[in-house]
Amino acid sequence: MAEGVRAPGDITDIHIHIQPWDQLHPAVRERMRRGRRDYDEILKMIEDPSAFLDYLDLSGVERAGIINYPSQDIMGFSEEASIFCARWCSAMPSRLIAFGGVHPRLTKSADDDMNRLLDLGIRGIKLHPPHQDFGLTDYREKNLKSLDRIYSIAQQRKIPVMIHTGTSVFPGARSRLGDPIGVDDVAIDFPDLRIILAHGGRPLWGETAIFLLRRFPNVFMDISGIPPRRVLQYFPRLAEFADKVLFGSDWPAPGVPTLPEILDQIEGVPMPAEAREKIMALNARKLFP
Ligand SMILES: [Zn+2]
Repeated sequence: MAEGVRAPGDITDIHIHIQPWDQLHPAVRERMRRGRRDYDEILKMIEDPSAFLDYLDLSGVERAGIINYPSQDIMGFSEEASIFCARWCSAMPSRLIAFGGVHPRLTKSADDDMNRLLDLGIRGIKLHPPHQDFGLTDYREKNLKSLDRIYSIAQQRKIPVMIHTGTSVFPGARSRLGDPIGVDDVAIDFPDLRIILAHGGRPLWGETAIFLLRRFPNVFMDISGIPPRRVLQYFPRLAEFADKVLFGSDWPAPGVPTLPEILDQIEGVPMPAEAREKIMALNARKLFP
């Protein structure tokens, strides 16, 4: 397909977790497995991207952002998780958008790690304060230089940074650090850095997320992890800032239904057609052409 020409219903789900689950700590892995009817299918997809692409076709989704990041101490993911992601997505780069991460506290060289990931084809950086136990403004307050480098290099190389905002249910996660207000400093200090607030701060900080995306031209959010049926309860005026919102499912995180179920639900959300097209398709094409 020529650049800029989209198939009708060209949907991007910018927030999917296909991750090397064999790295998870046992308690975290059990939390992942509990209540999932599609657990065995997911294990197959981790082994084989083509099984996942079939699943995208079945769900009516064209492209997916695949989210990985290191969290050695809390979740169990090593630096290899990002490398796994780059390789896995290379099976179909036109449909699979690889996100990886550098651990702001545990990296030995943020410069080396960032450049290596980007050279491997990572197209977005994921930061997860509750799973990496750092604050978004620690580069100012605690002189955490590696965090400054992660933001700087992403800005310089025009790579969007997705930041987990909101709570987390995993054992050991520091939900306090999911408050997005630190992005107010980051967006001032790195004005050209494109930032995606994952989950729009749900369930505690939705107002903060909206404030940030209205204040800063380069701050966006995704609606992943919010049950589509309830998205207008969280964000009643969603259509008014539809330019800044990306669709994401957070599948297969705990409590998230199957992808076809989520797509079904989102279709039932009353929204002007123009806003829907921006959220489901156009905004993601702009950020990740
Ligand atoms: Zn997520």
